[in-house]
Amino acid sequence: MGQIIDGKAISASVRAQLKRETELLIGQTGYTPALAVILVGDDPASAVYVRNKQRACAEIGFRALEYRLPASTSQKELDDLIDALNADDTVDGILVQLPLPHGLDEQSVLLRIRPDKDVDCFHPYNVGRVMTGKSRLAPCTPMGVMELIHSTGVDVAGKECVVIGRSNIVGKPLSMLLLRENGTVTVCHSKTRDLGAVCRRADILVAAVGRAGLITGDMIKPGAVVIDVGINRTPDGKLTGDVDFATAEPVASYITPVPGGVGPMTIAMLMQNTLVAAKEHLAEKGK
Ligand code: NDP
Repeated sequence: MGQIIDGKAISASVRAQLKRETELLIGQTGYTPALAVILVGDDPASAVYVRNKQRACAEIGFRALEYRLPASTSQKELDDLIDALNADDTVDGILVQLPLPHGLDEQSVLLRIRPDKDVDCFHPYNVGRVMTGKSRLAPCTPMGVMELIHSTGVDVAGKECVVIGRSNIVGKPLSMLLLRENGTVTVCHSKTRDLGAVCRRADILVAAVGRAGLITGDMIKPGAVVIDVGINRTPDGKLTGDVDFATAEPVASYITPVPGGVGPMTIAMLMQNTLVAAKEHLAEKGK
């Protein structure tokens, strides 16, 4: 029987720790960390994500700046806002909620955010820093996965780690974080031959695909740690992961549920990145 990794509880404890650290920082320096979130257009899912980010900022004690721009916003207007926030030394983190409406260039937006304020960690400079192992910022979802693995007490060093999915926001950076902790990492994708055989080697198995029930119990090594990043909707509107929980749970040692596993960690890690950025900015100012 696999032990359930409670992402909701772990996220709450990370946020509580960040709140304590933030209170201490404000007490010592008089400076309040600030996160600016830009939402362009009226995508309802994006609006929910932005609202949740604002809530988390308020809970931890950050200053939350919200910029809601119409879908008709031009590239120049968006660029000008980013430039202004880049130049504002009371802003520590800048996040542009993706996807952007048609006609706006996501890649140029990601390149425009100053790397030291890039709390999503999508700028190529930060991507490179994650790869070279130098960065204290890392993309939020992969970092959340690492926190969940750490919560089990299982040491990554020397373990066979299999990551299914090679996206730039989850699979690839996660493989780098596992490698940083001395895991032996295999990355699978849609062209991988005999996915089951590769998965069965894994002591730590992470699914980040977006296909409900792709990973079944017979693909899991007995005693493996199983982390399910996938978020899929069933025909009756419920959320479900990439792992078939019913058959996987009896085989795994630890397993994340969906919802309530990786999902709640992403915002907690965004908050952590914001605090890291604020501390680095204060250190640069000699505070
Ligand atoms: P992408 O669609 O960008 O990447 C999916 C990856 O899965 C690709 O690398 C693809 O391979 C691979 N893949 C597709 N089909 C198969 C298959 N049959 N066997 C093996 N690999 C396969 O997705 P994301 O990385 O953005 O997201 C993955 C999932 O995680 C989604 O469900 C998403 O909703 C969820 N997610 C959850 C987050 C959270 O906070 N919990 C945050 C971000 C994402 P190829 O490269 O060859 O096409």
